[in-house]
Amino acid sequence: MENKVNFITSEKGKPLVLLNLHKYRFIRERKDGIKKWLCTKKSCYASILTNGEYVHETINEHHHPENSQQSIERQVLREACKRKSNNTICVRPIKIIRNELMGSNGNHSEIEHRDVRSIRKAMYDKRRKNYPAFPKSNLKFKFY
Ligand SMILES: [Zn+2]
Repeated sequence: MENKVNFITSEKGKPLVLLNLHKYRFIRERKDGIKKWLCTKKSCYASILTNGEYVHETINEHHHPENSQQSIERQVLREACKRKSNNTICVRPIKIIRNELMGSNGNHSEIEHRDVRSIRKAMYDKRRKNYPAFPKSNLKFKFY
């Protein structure tokens, strides 16, 4: 069992901890800096305590299978792309995804074409949410 955790981002932008393909959401931080995380699966009471990047203690067993490597990679890639998409609004999503896939940030061997399509859609959706009014309306306003 690995004793080092990975930090990833949930679909809602919340921090998650990843350990042995199980995801945990943040519960609280103790006075001594140790953080408590609970399994993201509802009704599962497996939790862990982390000290920085390391596992301090694991509590309870999971009563469900772990996530697939593919679903984790897809989530990591999707969140990284969504963040970039927001910072670089004029770069086409497919370009950001390609850069992210070819970069050394992660191993995305399990990512399939289908995943890329869904990530691309997520990026477009996010942009639309953040920039609801297309510049067209601003232009009109300026010229009147
Ligand atoms: Zn669990």
